This record gives sequence, C-alpha cells and structure tokens, in this order.
Amino acid sequence: MLLKNRELFLQLAARPNDKYNTVPKPASFPKPPRLASLKAITLKDINPTIDKVYDGYVLEVKIIDFSYLMVAINTVIEDENGDIQRLAVYNWPLKGDRKAEIAEAIKTFRPNVMVSIINPYMRLSSDMKNIIRVENPVYIRLDNTSADQKCTFCGKEAKVLPCSKCMMVRYCSKECQRIDWIEFKHKEMCEHLKNYLS
Ligand SMILES: [Zn+2]
Ligand SMILES: [Zn+2]
Repeated sequence: MLLKNRELFLQLAARPNDKYNTVPKPASFPKPPRLASLKAITLKDINPTIDKVYDGYVLEVKIIDFSYLMVAINTVIEDENGDIQRLAVYNWPLKGDRKAEIAEAIKTFRPNVMVSIINPYMRLSSDMKNIIRVENPVYIRLDNTSADQKCTFCGKEAKVLPCSKCMMVRYCSKECQRIDWIEFKHKEMCEHLKNYLS
C-alpha cells in the first residue's frame, strides 16, 4: 500500500498542471460529538466490504506516508494493531495556488502525525477499493506534537536525523534511510518534496 501511495504521489508530481474538479462544499454538517463521548474502534472492527459510517466511534491512527492531493488529500494510515488503510480527507481548507496547497497538504498530513477520526466512514468506491473517507475537517483532530521526533520510515521514537536534501523525512538509523531511499522510492520522492516545499 505504501508503494502504491508513492507511485500515485510520483505520477501526480509528474503532471503538475492537471486540474481536479473540487466537490461542492456540503451546506452544513451536524456538530461532531465530543471525543470523550465516543467509543474507540480499530480497523479490525471496520468491515472493508461494507459501505458504512461508524456513528458514535472514534478511530485513532497514525499517518505513515506523505499525502498527495487530488480532489481530496490522500494518504495511508495505521492503527494501534498495525493494520493499514487508505485515508481521504475532503474539504480541508487549503490556501494559495496548487503548489502552495500541495505543500500545505504534505506538511499538515505528514508521517507520524496522529489522527482521531470521528464517526469513521468506510467508503467502497466503484473499483471496489475501500478507503476511510472524511467528508469534513470537523471530523478529525490532528496531533503533531511528537511527529518530528519519530523515524519517518519505522516510526520509532529516537534521535532522528533529517534527509539533508528535502529536510522532510527523518531517520533513526542508516538502515532505515537506506531502505526508504532505494526500496521505498524516497530517492524519487525527495526531489519532489524539495520542490513543493521550497
Ligand atoms: Zn527507523
Ligand atoms: Zn529527502
């Protein structure tokens, strides 16, 4: 799933002028319930073959890859059990031109940021691929307090050193850096990250 996400990131980076229709903003959303009133749920409890909103629940996850921006902000998440799923966030308020929007999406939804997803929606798309879909920003809470003290590749909290080229990824070891660079395409991602964020 990580490689798929990165391939899409790279494909989009190679076509910077593509236009995406933005979805019309929904008129209004009911105020989300308070986090404390929700029951915890994990990806195991969410059936990936049924299109359903899990009302009254909160899904706590960690972002594990960089996001790419189409109509929604798309990334990959992992829960406490190590289960992985795709995440799409619609209607997140991004400002500026497309490059500025992409940069903001990449920075805001970066690896190791924690996300609380209120009333998670398992969306089945027409290609039978499933995705956790967030319709409105009021349904998520982001926590980035310890994101930059963790290894971008393995997630371990450690003394981490940034990639000297893009300064956007951080590694706990040479080994993590090496695997990410070669096997997980950071070599190709790095240049684009640097361009978006400069
Ligand atoms: Zn590591
Ligand atoms: Zn880099």
